Amino acid sequence: LTDAQPDMWEFFRPFVEEYDASVWTMPEFVPSSLQMERVVHAPPCIDPLSVKNLELATPFCVEITRQYGIDPHRPIVCQVSRFDPWKDPIGVIEAFRLVREQVTDAQLVLAGSMATDDPEAFRVWEETEAARAGDRDIHLLSNLHQVGAVQINAFQRTADVVVQKSLREGFGLTVSEALWKGRPVVGGRACGIKLQIREGYDGYLVDDVESCARRIIDLLADPVGAEAMGAQGREHVRANFLSTRELEDWLRLMGELGA
Ligand code: UDP
Repeated sequence: LTDAQPDMWEFFRPFVEEYDASVWTMPEFVPSSLQMERVVHAPPCIDPLSVKNLELATPFCVEITRQYGIDPHRPIVCQVSRFDPWKDPIGVIEAFRLVREQVTDAQLVLAGSMATDDPEAFRVWEETEAARAGDRDIHLLSNLHQVGAVQINAFQRTADVVVQKSLREGFGLTVSEALWKGRPVVGGRACGIKLQIREGYDGYLVDDVESCARRIIDLLADPVGAEAMGAQGREHVRANFLSTRELEDWLRLMGELGA
């Protein structure tokens, strides 16, 4: 809003400035025109006890992926996101095609929810389906196929590499969701994704289709290194992006405001 529609932000600004504090995902989102004494940076978080994130036994995850026609014994690359141009599903397919030149048995899972009131989602779905061009190893799935929280959880857990190749992003909760499940993530170098992926520790940040493909190939070629990155990512999420941290932030802020 502040970047894309400055006039609208200027309309809202006096209302925001009436408050005692404002909370922002990260410093780069705070508009320079904001005049407030207390500006707090606190990224969103994931709930480790929600159905989307709770621990699932491996055989259960394997069974779910199998039900969707995905072979759990072959490499799986997965992106979970709405069918939206900024999530770049077509770029993910292009990267996957480059990956498959090297890793011929790889599969891609693109799972996203379709809001029935979002005509753009259907257009992007159709464009993505066209880009898939009938490829049986590219699985395009949505809530229309009964993909809900438990299935998303299982897809993220069975993926060898999780991708979030966003071109623009707010925070990108799917990145923390995947890291929490111990999966390495290849993410677009966009806003909140940069907070979550420490380059070379939890995964990689990428700027284009080619680098996305290269990083996926590197991770698929080195499963031990990929596991280690996923484990580091889980600890990064534990320290910074769980609801326990958010609770602490809110209590601290309330305490400061009440003091
Ligand atoms: N999500 C889901 N089902 C889908 C696609 C996405 O449950 O088919 C969830 C995803 O797991 C995440 C959220 O929707 O919790 C998307 O949040 P994110 O910050 O990644 O992107 P946004 O959609 O808010 O831009």
